[in-house]
Amino acid sequence: MIERLAIIGVGLIGSSLSLALKQAGAVGEVVGYGRNRRNLEKGIQLGVIDRFEASIVECVADADVILVAVPLGAMQPVFAELKSNIKQDAVITDVGSAKGSVVAAAEAELGDDFPRFVPGHPIAGTEQSGVEAGFASLYQNRRVILTPLQQTAADAVEIVDQMWQRSGAILEYLSVEHHDKVLAATSHLPHMLAYALVHHLSHLNDHDEIFRYAAGGFRDFTRIASSDPVMWRDVCLSNGDALVVLIQQYQRELDRIAAAIRDNNADELLKLFGRAKTERDSLIGNC
Ligand code: NAP
Repeated sequence: MIERLAIIGVGLIGSSLSLALKQAGAVGEVVGYGRNRRNLEKGIQLGVIDRFEASIVECVADADVILVAVPLGAMQPVFAELKSNIKQDAVITDVGSAKGSVVAAAEAELGDDFPRFVPGHPIAGTEQSGVEAGFASLYQNRRVILTPLQQTAADAVEIVDQMWQRSGAILEYLSVEHHDKVLAATSHLPHMLAYALVHHLSHLNDHDEIFRYAAGGFRDFTRIASSDPVMWRDVCLSNGDALVVLIQQYQRELDRIAAAIRDNNADELLKLFGRAKTERDSLIGNC
């Protein structure tokens, strides 16, 4: 049981965790901090937070666990305010979609508190944002990846592990580097493809008709292009090296398809599509 949880950034990810922990009876008081007072008042109305504070320092005073759930680009200044302002043995964790940049920011800012920081990333979300988008079942049977470092305190890792388990999540452990490489492929690249496709089609002359006749497949494929632009700008800037390599490889894949079509190469197209179907069916099934 976490007696007091402080959430810096009461949006989709932070509020869903709070609601899940409250539902499980795994948390006492939840205190929020954000820049927008209306969002925080809504958080109280929705039962996400019990109170909010006007500064990060007041929000984290006496907190046992501090969850940093702001966009990646806002993490470093938040860590700077936490330094020396948390109670002894408090645990800090985050939910950022890339881990290398967050760990570097935490190491630069947290000083002696750095071993109390447990980097984390829930592999769950929607294209919605803000406190009203949160819901208690978001993490049910979803994976949460923790990427502790050698110097991370074992008891801090255990507390964060238990917290996510109580929210319904399944815990996995990866190194920071491995996390960023894998997530660049499974999450960050698909978002780039969705954004690029919608952006590309919206500039075609007959784009009104293109979107009017869009069928289910197009909606499914492009749903993630409705995700928050700030969050995805920050993901690109934080995990750029891994992402650019994948984008270049993907471009070569598209060139290969274009060449096969241009050359009327039916065998090549069938081979490529057949192999992709077999891979997807065996890895993901028919969902
Ligand atoms: P969100 O719904 O937009 O919530 C972010 C919250 O952070 C907002 O409520 C905002 O509140 C606050 N905030 C923004 N900038 C801030 C700043 N400079 N200082 C202090 N607070 C700030 O976003 P989210 O989807 O919950 O994402 C939060 C984190 O989770 C991101 O790091 C993201 O990478 C990660 N994540 C997201 C997903 C997803 O699918 N959405 C999945 C996994 C991980 P105010 O405007 O009131 O300040």
